[in-house]
Amino acid sequence: MSKNNVKLKKLKTLWAENMRVMQVTCPECGSWAKIRKTNRKHRQLSDLYCACDDLECGHTFVLNVTFSHTLSPSAKSKKKLLQAALKDLNPQQHQLALDLLKSATA
Ligand SMILES: [Zn+2]
Repeated sequence: MSKNNVKLKKLKTLWAENMRVMQVTCPECGSWAKIRKTNRKHRQLSDLYCACDDLECGHTFVLNVTFSHTLSPSAKSKKKLLQAALKDLNPQQHQLALDLLKSATA
């Protein structure tokens, strides 16, 4: 690996650490690879079409990226859950929910 490639790899590593972007390495030679195309097959599954940056390698390959699990639930999904729960309440249950919320914040 040339001196410029080492320097470029260090810069890419620093940039990746600061930007928290996905870095892909070639499974054949270990050089950095670029994502050339993303084919979103499902909300939680994508194929990433990648090409090795090392011209002497030239490997092109596909990675599967899948959703694994939630660490902290989305605020948007909490809102949907609340809306669904509150939607079917009768007036007495609605008032009870309001009273509980007021007592929880007091
Ligand atoms: Zn390669």
